Amino acid sequence: MSSDCIFCKIVKGEIPSTKVMETEKSYCFLDINPINPGHLLVIPKEHFTTIFDIPDDVLADLISTVKKLSEAVYKAVSAEGINVVQNNYRAAGQLIDHAHFHIIPRFSNDGFLTSWPGKPANASDLNAVKDKITSHL
Ligand code: 5GP
Ligand code: ZN
Repeated sequence: MSSDCIFCKIVKGEIPSTKVMETEKSYCFLDINPINPGHLLVIPKEHFTTIFDIPDDVLADLISTVKKLSEAVYKAVSAEGINVVQNNYRAAGQLIDHAHFHIIPRFSNDGFLTSWPGKPANASDLNAVKDKITSHL
């Protein structure tokens, strides 16, 4: 528990939330500022800041909960698609420093993430970055 963490307070019931389900290690509730109705957050009950900090057993519980809830919300709101989003650090859009997965039901014309501004890379670029990544495994 991080004493000033909003999500830790939600898990403890000190701040209200619309809980959807919980497991031994995970807690799921509706995002208070949804992209679309049914936008869910799945969080570890214990405080971890980013995905890098979450032990594998907790992560396994989280991702299995994400899978179950993604299917449930997809059916519940008759979504046309689902985004699972997990932001780490400010540059990636993380505002709450308690690791979490977003489950976002999507519709064709909802205006969210309508383009993915990829930049073409050649084989040499791809190999160079692949070598950097594998050097850290
Ligand atoms: P992030 O940008 O950190 O990935 O997303 C944080 C999410 O938490 C946002 O979508 C925001 O709407 C949601 N959020 C922030 N504070 C609260 C809260 O007190 N209750 C609930 N239910 N959601 C919150
Ligand atoms: Zn926390």
